[in-house]
Amino acid sequence: MTGKLIPADFSGHTPMMQQYLRIKAEHPHTLVFYRMGDFYELFYGDAEKASRLLDITLTTRGQSAGVPVKMAGVPVVALEQHLARLVKLGEAVAICEQIGDPATSKGPVERKVVRVVTAGTITDQSLLPEKADALLMALIHDKRSVGAAWLNLAAGELTLSEIAPAHLPHLLERLRPAEIIVPDGSDAGLVPVGVARSVQNAWHFDARAGERALCEHFGVATLDGMGCGGLTLALGAAGALLQYAQATQGQRASHVQTLHVETGDEYLTLDAVTRRNLEITETLRGAPAPTLFATVDSCITSMGSRLLGRWLHHPLRDRQVPQQRHAAIAALLADDKLFEAPRRALRDISDIERIAARVALGSVRPRELSALRTSLKAAPGLDLGMPSAQDPLLSRLFGELLAPGECLALLETRLHAEPGARVQDGGVIAPGFDPDLDELRGLTVNAGEFLVALEARERQRTGIPNLRVEYNRVHGYYIEVTSSHVAKVPDDYRRRQTLKNAERYITPELKTFEDKALSAESKALAREKALYEGLMEALRPYIAALQSVARAVAQLDVLTALAERAWTFNWTRPVLDDIPGIAITAGKHPVVVQQVTDFVPNDCHLDPQRRLLLITGPNMGGKSTYMRQTALITLLAYAGSFVPASSARFGPVDRIFTRIGAADDLAQGRSTFMVEMTESAAILNGATARSLVLMDEVGRGTSTFDGLALAWAIARRLIETNQSYTLFATHYFELTQLTGEFPEAANVHLSAAEHAGGVVFLHEVRDGPASQSYGLQVAQLAGVPPAVIRAARKHLNELEEQAARVARPQRDLFAAADMSVSEPEAPAPAEHPLVERLRALKPDELTPRAALDALYALKEELAP
Ligand code: ADP
Repeated sequence: MTGKLIPADFSGHTPMMQQYLRIKAEHPHTLVFYRMGDFYELFYGDAEKASRLLDITLTTRGQSAGVPVKMAGVPVVALEQHLARLVKLGEAVAICEQIGDPATSKGPVERKVVRVVTAGTITDQSLLPEKADALLMALIHDKRSVGAAWLNLAAGELTLSEIAPAHLPHLLERLRPAEIIVPDGSDAGLVPVGVARSVQNAWHFDARAGERALCEHFGVATLDGMGCGGLTLALGAAGALLQYAQATQGQRASHVQTLHVETGDEYLTLDAVTRRNLEITETLRGAPAPTLFATVDSCITSMGSRLLGRWLHHPLRDRQVPQQRHAAIAALLADDKLFEAPRRALRDISDIERIAARVALGSVRPRELSALRTSLKAAPGLDLGMPSAQDPLLSRLFGELLAPGECLALLETRLHAEPGARVQDGGVIAPGFDPDLDELRGLTVNAGEFLVALEARERQRTGIPNLRVEYNRVHGYYIEVTSSHVAKVPDDYRRRQTLKNAERYITPELKTFEDKALSAESKALAREKALYEGLMEALRPYIAALQSVARAVAQLDVLTALAERAWTFNWTRPVLDDIPGIAITAGKHPVVVQQVTDFVPNDCHLDPQRRLLLITGPNMGGKSTYMRQTALITLLAYAGSFVPASSARFGPVDRIFTRIGAADDLAQGRSTFMVEMTESAAILNGATARSLVLMDEVGRGTSTFDGLALAWAIARRLIETNQSYTLFATHYFELTQLTGEFPEAANVHLSAAEHAGGVVFLHEVRDGPASQSYGLQVAQLAGVPPAVIRAARKHLNELEEQAARVARPQRDLFAAADMSVSEPEAPAPAEHPLVERLRALKPDELTPRAALDALYALKEELAP
């Protein structure tokens, strides 16, 4: 900003470079694409950067102020592909167009930055990801909370929320914004790596100014009715957001007509780790498939796909909405694939949502408008063949498919039936709409007849049989006469051009005609441009209506897609009710089931009397799959989908937590164990009696004894304090004894059978703990040499003998480590001196620590 206070001196530069440098000074952190004829040129530092990023040639162009001007350029026709690359790299690009008329301007043509393209503000069809939203977010925080506002510019939706700083990573993981605006001076760590970050002046984030800006934008006197009461930081963020959107678009984002305030308890909470672990829209490796989304997305339109992504990431806590969706899907499956007819109709529907946004921003293309026209005509046909009134949600949506007649009429009467691709080339306005345009067009069309007649007349007058009247872009109209007939050319012919074997002439009559025809053409083009702009203007009042049609189409697309999936995969309608618990019969993992030939379905029953399942079984036995499928089935049910199970019932669920695998967070410099414990701490602090918690192999990241002790303490805590529904997979066999102490805990195991010295995984969940771990068999399967396996087996036998000797005392040690059990009941005959020593402790010396110390010592002594 300081640059503005002291005007820079560009006087040593050429007039054009002076103009450029003035524009560049206003966009110091943005690549400026400076329009020069058929190219966008970049200069100096921008040129160097662009040549590096886009792999385009860096040249120099004369001198300005005594130094060569570095320059790189991209052709106008290739603009979009270059923008796409730059935006992906997180760069912002200012598009500077020639707005003056080159013919009449003295000095350089007037130029202006018409828009700034950034990752979060793109609305161009070709730059936006088709099946995902590109969100622009603004964040500001104080010590206690974070104010967030996010804008889906291409859909016209603004959302505000105020959250605790600890919840920010979860919000970011859920929404995955493309770009984040932060006030200058804010913590750089606020914006995740890989997300474009724009720093704005802190005063843009002023809460009062934000409130005023929102009131003005939505045309209301107060925001109270919009659920903004109590917000402060978020209002400031929203103000900054609207201002930024306006600055980049070069105009107000008038199509942003919905404001939503998110409170913390609307959605079933999935923390950032859980979202990643469950591979909802992205695999752990960052691929788009195989994921839950890839499996269920059979949507026909990209609007539907985007909405489905939102549904999957936002399962609802309140069961009413998901239940309505279930009912609609059931209605679509009622008899004989009712969903098929609407799905056929959907094929004619384009991205109404994004086209509407571009109408509002004045950047819509003629062919997008004709696609809109086709879509608006096709939309009401979505209810073809549907007994509409039967389902409340479907009939409401069917009622919203009809766009206002006037809007469609505008497109029908004004837009050409098959418009050209670009307004500047003409052919976009329908004939018969504008008499002036028709007349101008008539002149150019009638020109053909005139020229034919002229040619005939001149042939007769001159007696030159092969005389021809022609036109080219450089020389305009001319009469061509071959060299052999040149002598017959009359006096009034004026030579225009000499060729090898012919001469080209112009006559006063042809010249008059040419002036008229050429000016008619350029007048027609100018007229068309104005009429096209008028059409966009006339469509603006219908943007809200178009957005509503778009929303209805998107919902119908998702519902019919979910019905199709349910039909194809034989999924079932889940029951959501008040009775606490989760009961899944014959559940399947929606993604893994696609990848294996014989997927074994499994039940999962959890309720207040059976809150924690200790899951044991061999590696590769199917433990993680079982746990994840339980979470995914729950998520699908609360997102409103049918589920892969033969029956499924869910009581209220408020959160899903997962602590799965050893997802190293080395990028952030945290060890596996640290990550594990951070995640576990988050679960213990956040899980309630309505939460579903998945714990896979907790304690693995540290030494056996620490790990065991922690796993054991964590499991207890989940049973006693959090009282959550917990699936707890463990390889610490000792933990299976928890069921003796807590009737709410149950043991289940993934079955496997020994077969010819190897192991066969049955993938079946059975009651009781696993009888053995099959570790050696798995190692054998993995190709560990037989000699090593034999040595290991021998060693295992020895260990097992030792273990048998201490089994009882060990159990006692567990009991002793528990504060609430001061004296072990029915003590087993002590066989080991350490156990004796422990027994000798006085009750007040018998702390959990002392008990665990004794246990470690015992274990270590027994270890080889
Ligand atoms: P664990 O967590 O016990 O090591 P996984 O859940 O990762 O085991 O499962 C290992 C593999 O076994 C999976 O990749 C899948 O191919 C297969 N699998 C898991 N569960 C089933 C099942 N229920 N039916 C068939 N195959 C399964």
